[in-house]
Amino acid sequence: MNVVHLSNKTVLDFDIRVSIGSLALLKIRDIKILAKPTTIYLMVEEHCVFNCLYCAQARESKANFENLSRITWPKEKFGKVLESLITHRDKYKRICFQVVNGRNYFENLVSFLKAMKEVNLNVPVSVSIREYNEERIKQLFELGVERIGLPIDVVSKENFSKIRGGNYEETFNKIIAFGREFKGRITTHIIVGLLEMDEELINAMKDFFDNSVLVSLFAFTPIKGTPLEHFKTVPLERYRKMQFVRSLLFKKIPFKPIYKEGVLKEVEMDYKKEFIESLLNDLAIYTTQGCPNCNRPFYNEKPNGPMYNFPSLSTIENNIISSYVSQVVDGKVIFK
Ligand code: SF4
Repeated sequence: MNVVHLSNKTVLDFDIRVSIGSLALLKIRDIKILAKPTTIYLMVEEHCVFNCLYCAQARESKANFENLSRITWPKEKFGKVLESLITHRDKYKRICFQVVNGRNYFENLVSFLKAMKEVNLNVPVSVSIREYNEERIKQLFELGVERIGLPIDVVSKENFSKIRGGNYEETFNKIIAFGREFKGRITTHIIVGLLEMDEELINAMKDFFDNSVLVSLFAFTPIKGTPLEHFKTVPLERYRKMQFVRSLLFKKIPFKPIYKEGVLKEVEMDYKKEFIESLLNDLAIYTTQGCPNCNRPFYNEKPNGPMYNFPSLSTIENNIISSYVSQVVDGKVIFK
């Protein structure tokens, strides 16, 4: 290896986990992938100090530590990864560090970011991290990070502390405050299917968007070896409704949700049927939505489905609208 000249060479020997699709894209592993990632996903640290019940990396998880959600993340030397990132720079559009709060997570992340800055990859970098210290958030931006993902994950107020740990209001308010302070640079992840009602999910999404926090939706994925291993998955038609509502909030299209006992039944909008249909037919809303060019292929899905977030437009099935919409009329969408 000789392409990388860094002031701190020791970082080249650090271990880093790389998602299997990213390894294939970077030609470090010779494996066939069904959908190419458009972002390179790197995992910093392992064995989290926190204990989210759905996470393979949680403190008490018995899941395979090579995993995060459905994806395998083999370990590689950072030097090798950095070299491939330089060689294959034309193959990806973003790099995302998924930070697990292990022992040296922040120091290691800083070392990786400094190294990347030094080689000047000229690519937007995201960091997804459970970090609420303002000085540290600022430090990450100063190190060239374009966007920071502060995942709320769970939006059921009643179940937040049980499922994720910590206090919902406190966590939510911190993310909102960072959204206001660092306008257009904060993303949050919401996992659909962790005991929240539609109404709380939609209210949370609205508050995030209203405060410049970009919402990225994922579907709960049961992972073997975690306490939620046997927990039920989200019905696909419910997930589609949430993708549609997210798109309305993202596009700033006014609407009135109609609930029955917290479940979304209809959306009222002051538009003609044709325009509402065009909103439903914007197929991009069913693809992974988060930081630009993040497609996370098969993060929530088995390759044979069901597909919650499609990794590209070409993979979207034909009957997607009829799978969750019962009727569209002037001023209204009625869901199944
Ligand atoms: S939306 Fe994608 S790129 Fe952005 S923080 Fe989340 S996983 Fe990373």
